[in-house]
Amino acid sequence: MSLLPPLSPWQQRAYEQACGTMRAGYFGHATLIVGPEHIGKRLFAEHLARRVLCLSPLADGEACGTCKSCHLFASRAQMEPLEVRPDGAPSHPWGHSAHPDLLFVGYENNTKTGKPRSELVIEQIRGISDKLGLTSQLGGAQVVIVDPTDAINWNAFNALLKTLEEPQPGRYLWLLASNLARLPATIRSRCQRLELRLPPRDEALQWLQTRGHQVSLAEEALDAARGHPGLADAWITGDGLALRRDVQKDAQALQRGQAEALEVAQRWAADGRAPERLRHLAELVLQQASGLTDAGAARTLAERFDAANRARGLLSTTVRADLAIMEALLGWRAK
Ligand SMILES: [Zn+2]
Repeated sequence: MSLLPPLSPWQQRAYEQACGTMRAGYFGHATLIVGPEHIGKRLFAEHLARRVLCLSPLADGEACGTCKSCHLFASRAQMEPLEVRPDGAPSHPWGHSAHPDLLFVGYENNTKTGKPRSELVIEQIRGISDKLGLTSQLGGAQVVIVDPTDAINWNAFNALLKTLEEPQPGRYLWLLASNLARLPATIRSRCQRLELRLPPRDEALQWLQTRGHQVSLAEEALDAARGHPGLADAWITGDGLALRRDVQKDAQALQRGQAEALEVAQRWAADGRAPERLRHLAELVLQQASGLTDAGAARTLAERFDAANRARGLLSTTVRADLAIMEALLGWRAK
């Protein structure tokens, strides 16, 4: 029987905190589960869902592994992933909900275009109160997981607010978010908050090695990801680290006058990975800025950082991608 992947040490800490709150009877209806992307909010929520949905929990409250709910959880882990993401990133490896009392609300395909939507729409949010208004099918708790909450369409937040104002015992709404600033204050103030934080470096390195990564590679990726093990893992497993090295090479060539901004911009715009490249570019600036004391140099770096982020924002508009990227690169040219 296939099971959920195990929790990493930092996810385990958040899990134990949540369980402690549950045991003390303070775990509320709606919880904001907060942390940077790739830190493992979703896996954490899955583990917690398995626990609260279990029909005959063990003495310590953990899922029994043998009841009908636990069986449904395990069979779900073997299903094909259905979820799509607008950036084309791999979907969650353990598939959609075959559990009748567990609902996921995430990116879906636009039925007209067949392409992933870039936001969560109001029909999906209305579906949450519909779901929580039904009786539990297995007779236990009910859980709705929204991921990512920061992608909810602004007009749909009102519908979410209504759900938050009708708490019912045994019904849980877990809102996963990496950017709290994108949520209205009315939503934030009505939820309990649970945070997944970056672990200490030693722990992160050790975890990367248990994932099968070489120490030297793990260290490089962890430094590049500024201590974020989930991101480092994603970069090593995919080609994120190689992409970052390319970006660094291009930036250096621009600084030395060995490359033209327009040529680099066109190349970056060509393969659909411009957002990632600009993100790496901004991160490189941050790395250069650490320990810097010269005010003039600091200003240059601040401008480069802003320009990279501005260009990344422009990519989702109708501005031509190569022109948007060029704006970010002009500040890197040799003076
Ligand atoms: Zn069980």
